[in-house]
Amino acid sequence: MDFRKEYRVEPGKGFKIERADPGDTAGYKSKEEAREKLAENRAKLAELQHKLFAEGKQALLVVLQAMDAGGKDGTIRHVMRGVNPQGCRVTSFRAPSDEELAHDFLWRIHKAVPAKGMIGIFNRSHYEDVLVVRVHDIVPKKVWSRRYDMINDFEKMLGRNGVTIIKFYLHISKQEQKARFQDRIEKPEKHWKVNPKDFDERKHWDDYMQAFEDAIEKCSTRYAPWYVIPSDKKWFRNLAISRIIADTLEDMDLRFPEPSCDVTELVIPD
Ligand code: ATP
Ligand code: MG
Repeated sequence: MDFRKEYRVEPGKGFKIERADPGDTAGYKSKEEAREKLAENRAKLAELQHKLFAEGKQALLVVLQAMDAGGKDGTIRHVMRGVNPQGCRVTSFRAPSDEELAHDFLWRIHKAVPAKGMIGIFNRSHYEDVLVVRVHDIVPKKVWSRRYDMINDFEKMLGRNGVTIIKFYLHISKQEQKARFQDRIEKPEKHWKVNPKDFDERKHWDDYMQAFEDAIEKCSTRYAPWYVIPSDKKWFRNLAISRIIADTLEDMDLRFPEPSCDVTELVIPD
């Protein structure tokens, strides 16, 4: 199964979010069945990250977006485990500060783009500026509706500068979100995650789905594709995302740099 082909939203072909099944597991039946594959993917990822870092010429940017309780944190925890922390940076985007609001919406994003040799993970991203901002009318339609083109131009520019971009929408059902909120209420060790504001956001579920559909359709491009990952089953989400990241790194044609001298001629002094 080629997860990239299966879950990539093809540019220009239209995208309907209701056709994507959040419970899909691509024929895998259980967590146990996926465990070994996940371990393989992680090992592959670690190996390729090492090469990316050594080469020092390209970067990988992974964008994660989801509804609340969609699993962004869990994905980072499970998929990136094993990756050298020195070569990886996670940036979480919250509601913008006054300083950030005094600039264009991509200003804070650009500063967080990974440097050459690095993997950057965005926990939320510039897409919030066409998601929450749209759903809550934080800026007028005239303003947010122009942002899709700006995002595409920005991502194209990054691509041409050696940044490979992949974007994941972790797709959960409305029932699954409810179950996860319930779980947070029931388990004391999850209370710290409870945010009554998240519960209120559920009222806007349909508006969010529309906003996601548009963002994904308009901004899934050749140079920065969107993947819609069935995420009701956490183990499947981890399996699919780890595979897609590893395959993407594989295609980047990473090479260890040439040594700066003929190492076979070197003599180590006593
Ligand atoms: P998460 O909910 O991602 O796990 P968190 O609970 O630690 O993170 P929150 O305090 O919920 O952090 O911060 C994220 C909030 O910031 C979300 O409600 C999100 O919609 C909001 N946000 C992010 N970017 C923007 C933006 N550009 N404009 C307005 N709100 C934004
Ligand atoms: Mg939150």
